[in-house]
Amino acid sequence: MKKYCFGIDVGGTTVKCGFFNTEGQLLEKWEIPTRTEENGSRILPDIAATINAKIAERGLEKDEIEGIGVDIPGPVKEDGTVDLAVNLYWGYVDVVGEMEKMTGIKTKALNDANAAALGECWKGGGAGYDNLIMVTLGTGIGGGIVVGGKVIAGAHGAGGEIGHGHAVDDMTEPCNCGNVGCIEQVASANGIVRLAHMILEKTDKPSVLRDKKFSAKDLWEAVKAGDEVADEIAEKFGFYLGRELAIYAVVTDPQLIVIGGGMAKAGTIVLDYIRKYYRQYAFPACKETEFALATLGNDAGIYGSAKMVL
Ligand code: ZN
Repeated sequence: MKKYCFGIDVGGTTVKCGFFNTEGQLLEKWEIPTRTEENGSRILPDIAATINAKIAERGLEKDEIEGIGVDIPGPVKEDGTVDLAVNLYWGYVDVVGEMEKMTGIKTKALNDANAAALGECWKGGGAGYDNLIMVTLGTGIGGGIVVGGKVIAGAHGAGGEIGHGHAVDDMTEPCNCGNVGCIEQVASANGIVRLAHMILEKTDKPSVLRDKKFSAKDLWEAVKAGDEVADEIAEKFGFYLGRELAIYAVVTDPQLIVIGGGMAKAGTIVLDYIRKYYRQYAFPACKETEFALATLGNDAGIYGSAKMVL
């Protein structure tokens, strides 16, 4: 009888591993380092080894394991293959094929931001919802779109890559993806700092942010403290992201938009600025779409990966 499954979240420096029962309870979690040397060829064997060791340690039989879900920081195609994952130094890798060969257990793979969306939809800020958009505001912007309880990976595994939706016309600096003016360049944790400098340059108004190095966290603290320029920056951030989300809302018509990632730690004030402009631009039927903060933090990926195989 199938009683357990594994949810694995592969990051550039660590691999987070979760051991779940089939009711979706996280029974144990641990981490192993991501060994990116030799073009990341050790990564999947290391994961297979830690899973095989856990099964042995708990005295389980392989046929008690429902499956292994693995998320990857890069586009994953429907057949579980990856063409390129720069953070892992990977070219083409058949994640599902290799994992199944090394463990003898059914495996599924998906993109990490999509896994986080699925995790939040299942056990986090979006629990109880079947249609949502998840936005992760970290160093970059990750996204995941869940429709009818299923995450949309698309034809190239790029479904939900909303960080690279075009948002800014008067940008000259290129994005990591090679395009210019992506939403990530002005609304991620790094992006909002870039946006802040652009706005600070254009005004003489005093601000606690002026002439010093600051992070997204410092910026939101300045907003909360009533700094006028910081508020202007937050408005512009809200405009870009709210307008972008209003466009996606007419494509997938979500019940809920979940905001996560490091910047969401500033709290519901982040939602307030996004929601204001979302409502301005959203199609009437979608205007009342709810906003929520993600709640699973760094565990969203292991939950989503586990959900994939259940
Ligand atoms: Zn981009």
